[in-house]
Amino acid sequence: MTDSDWKSWVAHHTRLFRWTAAEDLAMLNLWRQGFEGRGFTADEMIQASSALAEDNPKNSRGDAIWRAEHFSFILNFISSARLMKQRAAILAEEVRHRTYCTQCLGCGFLFVPNLCSVVSGDWVHPFSSGVIACDCKKGEMRLRNHAAILEHVAAAKNKKKYVDVPRLMCRAEYEEKNPFWKSQIETREMKRRTEQEIRDETHYADTSRGPLDNVVLKVIGRARRAPEKPKPISRPIPVPKDVAATVPNTCPF
Ligand SMILES: [Zn+2]
Repeated sequence: MTDSDWKSWVAHHTRLFRWTAAEDLAMLNLWRQGFEGRGFTADEMIQASSALAEDNPKNSRGDAIWRAEHFSFILNFISSARLMKQRAAILAEEVRHRTYCTQCLGCGFLFVPNLCSVVSGDWVHPFSSGVIACDCKKGEMRLRNHAAILEHVAAAKNKKKYVDVPRLMCRAEYEEKNPFWKSQIETREMKRRTEQEIRDETHYADTSRGPLDNVVLKVIGRARRAPEKPKPISRPIPVPKDVAATVPNTCPF
């Protein structure tokens, strides 16, 4: 660290904490060797001092930390910041080397409208779909694997053993035939969402009148049902006592 850098940090730190005493400056000079031993730069130290002033850390008794503790705070702050920066750099490097494709989400296939459902540039009913190979490394691998399967089937003696394997198109070939497939999918998705919203609204409008509809449905159902047959009487009809007394126990015939 140059003298100029050191002085700029000392000026910054003493201004922030209003240290003007000669003892404070002497204490700061004691710290210089420690900071230089870690290879700190003036920018890092200025940042640490600003963070210290903003954080205003407290000790265990809840008081502002002692002046002498500024040394440890600055050491820890810069070490942690460097560690975080190092981790971020490692992560960025990993992401850069990762073969993850955002088009196919790493599967190597792209889901596209089937050409038999594309009429005059529109994706139409029944909206059949299919897959093509993505133009990433995984997609290339899919194409190679597929070509190997086709070769194997072509070379097989008993072809009846295999179902028809459809040809896998690469993206460039498919886009020659249907260049606007992305917008077709977006349009379809938009329509699907709108239809779903209509369905939801209709359902709400219908169910919000639920009790009335239920009554109507019950009435209609009752009218459509066949009239109920009278139920057979399973118990004997009780005979009043005075009538029972007049009836003879035995049959006179
Ligand atoms: Zn891909």
